[in-house]
Amino acid sequence: MKTIGLIGGMSWESSLVYYRLVNEGVKARLGGLHSAKCVMYSVDFAEIEPLQHGGKWTEATEEMIEAARHVQDGGADFVVLCTNTMHKTADEVQKQISIPLLHIADATAQAVKAHGLGTVGLLGTRFTMEDDFYKGRLTEKHGLEVIVPTEEEREAVHQIIYDELCLGEIAQESKERYKRIMESLVDQRAQGIVLGCTEIGLLVSQEDSSVPVFDTTKIHAKAAVEWALRKW
Ligand code: GLU
Repeated sequence: MKTIGLIGGMSWESSLVYYRLVNEGVKARLGGLHSAKCVMYSVDFAEIEPLQHGGKWTEATEEMIEAARHVQDGGADFVVLCTNTMHKTADEVQKQISIPLLHIADATAQAVKAHGLGTVGLLGTRFTMEDDFYKGRLTEKHGLEVIVPTEEEREAVHQIIYDELCLGEIAQESKERYKRIMESLVDQRAQGIVLGCTEIGLLVSQEDSSVPVFDTTKIHAKAAVEWALRKW
């Protein structure tokens, strides 16, 4: 089994889910007392969030390179960056390390295509819904059509992530808001909904949607287990 290198803390609420899922995944595949070989380097999100909102992506990238080097030095065979948003730095991080990075958007696109879907609605932080590193990767690299919520809806989706979900707060009102936004994406032809933020699965799940939901935390963790157990 290979060693998974998790970069966590963004937020730790979702890192916890990753840790559980990779261990459950390895146990499901190998049985008995088997668990995932992994190392996690977990950052202080209070140091990262101001860099994101301040547009200081060069500094944010340096932080992620340092974190990736820590997991590499800790014996990881590949890197799993446990956040969609920070994949904005992924290409640069990959250049600075010698082990592969398992890109969350690639794993997600493969799951969507395995379902035979071509058009998805995307929920995530403003960075994920608006910048090219994620949406562009789904469309250009994987040929998916991606529909994002309106500007007002994007603002609500973004604020709920930072002001509630990353703080461990799950509010019924926010769940209803997300459900309405997901339905409006379906009305605009979305055949599936990508939960493109690793905390969104704490708020909504398949039962809240009339179309298939793609929870990036689950997809990414499952892909990590596959990488850990595949022949290299
Ligand atoms: N975990 C989130 C994501 O998947 C948001 C927190 C962050 O900005 O890293 O995008």
